[in-house]
Amino acid sequence: MDTNYYLRDSYLEKKKCPYVTVGIMDRQLEVGGCFDSIFVLNDEAEVKGNFTAKVVQDNITFHIQEKNILYSGENLRFKNKGDSTFTLFDVTIGINFHWEKKEEQSFRGDLILKKRPEGTIAVINEISLEDYLESVVSSEMKSTAPFEFLKAHAIISRSWIISALRKKSKGMVKEAQEVQQKTNLKNNDEIIHWYEQEGHDLYDVCADDHCQRYQGIKKVLTENPVRAVRDTCGVVLTFNGEVCDTRYSKACGGITEEYRSVWKDMDIPYLKSISDGEKTFTPILTEEDAKSWVTSKPNAYCNIADANTLKKILPEFDLKTGDFFRWKISYSREELEEIIKRKSGLDLGTLKEIIPLKRGPSGRIYLMEIKGSKKTVRIGKELEIRRWLSNTHLLSSAFVIEPTYNSSGEIKEFTFYGAGWGHGVGLCQIGAGYMALKGYTAEEILMHYFPGTILSKIY
Ligand SMILES: [Zn+2]
Ligand SMILES: [Zn+2]
Repeated sequence: MDTNYYLRDSYLEKKKCPYVTVGIMDRQLEVGGCFDSIFVLNDEAEVKGNFTAKVVQDNITFHIQEKNILYSGENLRFKNKGDSTFTLFDVTIGINFHWEKKEEQSFRGDLILKKRPEGTIAVINEISLEDYLESVVSSEMKSTAPFEFLKAHAIISRSWIISALRKKSKGMVKEAQEVQQKTNLKNNDEIIHWYEQEGHDLYDVCADDHCQRYQGIKKVLTENPVRAVRDTCGVVLTFNGEVCDTRYSKACGGITEEYRSVWKDMDIPYLKSISDGEKTFTPILTEEDAKSWVTSKPNAYCNIADANTLKKILPEFDLKTGDFFRWKISYSREELEEIIKRKSGLDLGTLKEIIPLKRGPSGRIYLMEIKGSKKTVRIGKELEIRRWLSNTHLLSSAFVIEPTYNSSGEIKEFTFYGAGWGHGVGLCQIGAGYMALKGYTAEEILMHYFPGTILSKIY
């Protein structure tokens, strides 16, 4: 294995593509790490070796242990002199998901530390977009995954971020935030929330599942993800001349979801629902449809039960998730009451009924009513529903609920039967991996999940 593969030439490519700022950690009281070789701090001092940074009074105090260098300021930029790397200790990944853990991560590009008004630190990595993508493709998927799949992923990860950067520069982010707030404040009994990248003020994207997983260069283990990014350098999906907002999730469950079920109430022509298989599956329209869908195992691309096939596609920590195509989870009534109370901050009293009110074509619920003895609320959209009904997040909102009763007719337990993993919009990662194993090309995979789009090289 040539471990230096990813370091070669990366700075030659840099000039041609945009830069991106990635929030690696945020709201930290203290940050520890190491510069593996020389970095230049605020165009003045050369630094190298282990460091710590914390907020003292109104500034970030930065300390290099070996040389006893102290520096302070509100914004500290450490410029990379070439192909150096820096390491951060205790980076949390999978925040609030069941795969959350801490790890040490190394990065290329510049390190920026910014002080937040309340006295914490945002840790930001500024890096060329193509370098960023090499890590994203490696972090999202296994580097030994089929090559056509890695290429398809490189193209959608690139399209997604370029589309996000362009929206930001056009001021569309602010507009989206206002729409989001208006919708959220509808009334007290209806809580509709969705989560967009608009949440980030000090950087373009975060490094976690909320945006795209970006876990530094330790995950770049083989040259395949790097080659997939370089072979597709500057290639994006476009629709009517615009770079596509290419969403993706782990497993659609057999049918992909529409954009509007997860985010803003609007249709995006290339993010419509499709059948993820050779055959066409009938979209879910009724509760009966939903029940037979989540309790059947249709022959979809993402219906992979074989552990060896999955190992070729998924990173180690995702393999732990187990059954994702069809799944089941049960809670005692009291347990679910406690979870809902903790997650929502609302005391609904004794749980009486959970009613799906609106579903998208994949079966994902985007409006749901929870009836309690003290209060009844309606909630949406899919991620908020998943958040309220689990200690972490339910795998998806494509589920049916079956209560069981005790001898006096009170609900004893709620059982959820579900389909898929993630929001289900756009590309289905496990399905796409399977398609590549079956011999489909990157272009064929992309045309399947994003109908009507074309490939364009923009730099
Ligand atoms: Zn984010
Ligand atoms: Zn799928």
